[in-house]
Amino acid sequence: MQARHYEYWPKVTKSIIVPETSLYNNLKVTALRYPEHEAIYYYGTSITYQQLDEEVEALAGYLQEVLQVKPDEKVLLYMQNSPQFVIAFYAILRANAVVVPINPMLTADELEFYIKDCEIKNAVLGQELYQNVQPLIDRTSLKNLVIAAYGDYLSDNFDGELPEEVKASRALFNEPNHFLWENAVQAGYKPGPHDRTGNDLAVLPYTSGTTGLPKGCMHTNSTVQANTVGSYYWSRATTNTKHLMTLPIFHVTGMIHSMHMPIFGGSTMVLMTRWNRNTAAKLIKEQGCTHWVTISTMLIDFLANSELKAEDLSSLMSISGGGAAFPKAVGEKLFKLTGLEFVEGYGLSETIAQTHFNPPDRPKMACLGVPSFDVDARIIDPVTGEELGPNEIGEIVVNGPQVMIGYYNRDDENRNSFIELAGKSFFRTGDIARYDEEGYFFIVDRVKRMINASGYKVWPTEVESYLYDHPAVQQACVVGVPDPRRGETVKAFVILNDDYVGKVSEEEIIEWSKDKMAAYKYPRFVEFKEAFPTTSSGKILWRKLQEEEKKKAEGV
Ligand code: AMP
Repeated sequence: MQARHYEYWPKVTKSIIVPETSLYNNLKVTALRYPEHEAIYYYGTSITYQQLDEEVEALAGYLQEVLQVKPDEKVLLYMQNSPQFVIAFYAILRANAVVVPINPMLTADELEFYIKDCEIKNAVLGQELYQNVQPLIDRTSLKNLVIAAYGDYLSDNFDGELPEEVKASRALFNEPNHFLWENAVQAGYKPGPHDRTGNDLAVLPYTSGTTGLPKGCMHTNSTVQANTVGSYYWSRATTNTKHLMTLPIFHVTGMIHSMHMPIFGGSTMVLMTRWNRNTAAKLIKEQGCTHWVTISTMLIDFLANSELKAEDLSSLMSISGGGAAFPKAVGEKLFKLTGLEFVEGYGLSETIAQTHFNPPDRPKMACLGVPSFDVDARIIDPVTGEELGPNEIGEIVVNGPQVMIGYYNRDDENRNSFIELAGKSFFRTGDIARYDEEGYFFIVDRVKRMINASGYKVWPTEVESYLYDHPAVQQACVVGVPDPRRGETVKAFVILNDDYVGKVSEEEIIEWSKDKMAAYKYPRFVEFKEAFPTTSSGKILWRKLQEEEKKKAEGV
């Protein structure tokens, strides 16, 4: 089959101009230039840029006047993809505050950590997540909640399947510090002046980086602008492009490619709250979606739909993604059906999405791509820090305008996460890779102890810390095991306390874990052991256990 749309792509330039203005300013400018243009399409309902801007103003005024949100204050955003997520994100920025976007899959226990870590007082959340937040009001600094029902912006125009949480009618909350979204945006408050510029903090996405517990990545308006504008050039968004939004926007890939970039370009966000392959196909066809940033598991599911027809996908100019390895076979299936080559990219929360992407006119399969605009990416020996050359395997380090200014309140980790090379500071990614003679990077392994389950990152130390709350668990070691659908999944090896041997089953531990941890995180497999392999200093050799599992899966 002939590849299509190559003529669409720009020549890749080496450098771009990053605006010194704030991220919020992008919305203001777009709303002034294209007030009537459709900003959001949400299950049959359209919201124009003027309406989006008005809702943002109204919520920002309410946050400042009623909730007393102060400049630089961190505000929790705990929601699924919805018009309210986009409005709240920009309203927090408009109010000169900082957005802390948190995975809506997290449980109350997990959430507590984040609230304490950055002393959150105010939160904006989806009503279906209320039961996770409510218990934390007494236990943490959290005081005020603005609660939204996703269905509030819907007219009755959609003849497809609506997710349950979108169908749900608005709940009643009678506590004094619980504020309903519709009251907040209708109250008529006006925010004070917006005074943020490039160096001010804008977003604090959480990740565990290479070690330990989650930590907030300090992203300024400039670091976010760098990838917003970079992806705009790269993807050629215009006011006529329509971006199917299926990735969660709390996470950096969805946040940049499906929200900030369309807002910067004045294009349309076609929003989905929950992944559903039939709805995605319907939206692409009926709304004429041009761009889709996705992840391999979604694409595998999408392509498994036997009713999918090439002509229904003809509006698509680009399907791209990153966050997890992309299997070659999926790319081939996509190409056969659509003539489009999957354009893979690579990046981290610390770099607010991409540092690498494949040149769209010359992509390579199962490849991270080449360094993005203004990015200096090198490979070093992870032990000696010495720089390596083409095809030598080592750790990727990056210097560029999208690299965070550091982890919030983590001086030690900040010292260890950067390295000086050629007079510049490089962020250590913890990913092991090589680059070929043409400068394309290929991932090989990870230094960091992380499990990548469908792009959701699971940190074994965090899962282990929950497992230790179970009375039967004496020692736990969590590893990633190969999974045909999720890429990797979570397995826990457990040594039981003597009193529990023979009295608790592996299934019971799995069931118990389901209540404690987000669905992507709890161990799908538990295996009891009498001892773990350890180093002479007693450190558990988790890699050995992980490699044994890999060999078992490969039938070696
Ligand atoms: P996060 O901070 O959640 O965005 O996770 C970043 C991590 O995702 C990276 O350090 C990589 O381990 C992984 N990752 C990102 N892009 C890719 C890719 N294209 N292929 C394989 N792993 C990736």
